[in-house]
Amino acid sequence: MNDSATASPATPSRVPQASAQRIRAIRRWTADLWSLRIERPAGFRFQPGHYLRLGLPVETPASAVWRPYSIVSAPDDEALEIVLVRVPDGAFTSQLARLGEGDPVLLEQAVFGFFLESQLAPGDTLWMLATGTGIGPYVSLLRTPGALDRHRRAVLVHSVRRADELSYRDEIEAAVAASGGRLHYLPVVTRDTVGGTLSGRIPRLIDDRLLQSAADAALEPTGSRVMVCGNPAFTTDMRALLSARGFTPCRRGSPGTMLFEKYW
Ligand SMILES: Cc1cc2nc3c(=O)[nH]c(=O)nc-3n(C[C@H](O)[C@H](O)[C@H](O)COP(=O)(O)OP(=O)(O)OC[C@H]3O[C@@H](n4cnc5c(N)ncnc54)[C@H](O)[C@@H]3O)c2cc1C
Repeated sequence: MNDSATASPATPSRVPQASAQRIRAIRRWTADLWSLRIERPAGFRFQPGHYLRLGLPVETPASAVWRPYSIVSAPDDEALEIVLVRVPDGAFTSQLARLGEGDPVLLEQAVFGFFLESQLAPGDTLWMLATGTGIGPYVSLLRTPGALDRHRRAVLVHSVRRADELSYRDEIEAAVAASGGRLHYLPVVTRDTVGGTLSGRIPRLIDDRLLQSAADAALEPTGSRVMVCGNPAFTTDMRALLSARGFTPCRRGSPGTMLFEKYW
């Protein structure tokens, strides 16, 4: 959920208007971390930062389990891409894990959410902070031409437990190489020691000024804008840290300097 959300995104209060769409491709980053590309119905529009809702089983839409997933694709992509982990005994992901390419899933017709870069006041440096599958909305931004143009620089920080969970790393590094110095990528691995990555939780790395110095960028409310996406301990800690430094939340009709998407 984010600053502007009102209802729980996981549990629609009605039977959603949905269609069955086939899984076109599955990319496995690890045994439990995958990206799916799903058929995109005509007229299904979104912006980077929106999320969609999937349901299973397809045969019983009225009693299906529905879950929200951030969209990884760019708005002009012909397919809908998401990245997700299998949760042990998870009500939805356990069902999804049994499916393969060509199998259908239920896709709700609408898109949702307010984790949109446009919610932020204009700024100099955009910090995009993610844990785990929270990388998804930022990959969508990177894939969308002009989506980061309001900022002189952007810093993408992706924290995972093990290095093989650094999904999209090659694609992000290619975007960095093509950015003319405007985009920085800081992978963080918390349970391995790996060359070329930082180690430790993101809030601690900020307190110790290690992220700022690795990116050669300040993190202060006058010029910095911060997007935070991932697990609840991370988003809670980041909200406290940023609030203490004078960052302000985004409200409907009132741009702020920090924006959150909490996955559970
Ligand atoms: C706005 C929004 C966007 C989301 N986008 C994504 C996304 O892009 N990718 C994604 O994988 N999940 C995403 N989620 C979480 C997702 O909707 C499901 O909660 C998740 O896939 C687990 O569903 P489940 O039914 O298998 O597990 P459940 O039986 O519902 O179990 C829930 C438990 O699973 C764990 N969990 C949930 N999500 C994750 C996760 N991402 N990583 C690790 N553990 C998790 C937590 O311990 C949580 O308490 C998003 C959630 C929200 C609210």
